[in-house]
Amino acid sequence: MQGFILHTLKARDEDLIVMILTKNSLKTLYRFYGARHSIVHLGHKIDFEEQKDGGNFLPRLRNVTHLGFKFLYDLERLKIWHNFLKLLYKHLKDVEKLDSFYFELLDDLSKKLTKQNPKRGCLESYIKLLQHEGRIHSLERCYFCNELLSIEEIALSRAFLPSHSRCSYSKPFNQKNIKELFNRGDSIFVDDEEVDRLWDVLLEGF
Ligand SMILES: [Zn+2]
Repeated sequence: MQGFILHTLKARDEDLIVMILTKNSLKTLYRFYGARHSIVHLGHKIDFEEQKDGGNFLPRLRNVTHLGFKFLYDLERLKIWHNFLKLLYKHLKDVEKLDSFYFELLDDLSKKLTKQNPKRGCLESYIKLLQHEGRIHSLERCYFCNELLSIEEIALSRAFLPSHSRCSYSKPFNQKNIKELFNRGDSIFVDDEEVDRLWDVLLEGF
């Protein structure tokens, strides 16, 4: 089975509790420390086996093979990838059964991050996630006061909720560019300065 390591927790000694996103679920498995075992890292894609424990204990993570990406040695890209995964983990952690959308989203993103500007890649994936969950808001009205938004400028709050600058106390974006991003899922019309600011909004949480 394949999956992405979304989160790890230290258990006793050097053991780890590992949360893995697979095609259809978010699994919580126990990894016993062993000198001959490969090390399990956040953000890696792995092939693995799950061994059920007879009792009430967590199933074990076994026979791990790393399926590497090129950008794992590029610290800047890796940091952005880790941030994205942390947010995704928070978003999914209480769900056990998932549709394959989330696994495929990470699969696509991990391929894109080898070449593309990493913040752009993550932004585009996040827009896909909002579309998939039906959480893209119309840019016509302010989420906070419900009055019409200007056709030139809009501000965005956590989860990309559209608002007036004055209602969310934040700097506005060019409305046309954001519309293109939301409708086409493509960040080509958004400049680098706006990408950095959109990334900061994204970091507030999914
Ligand atoms: Zn408003």
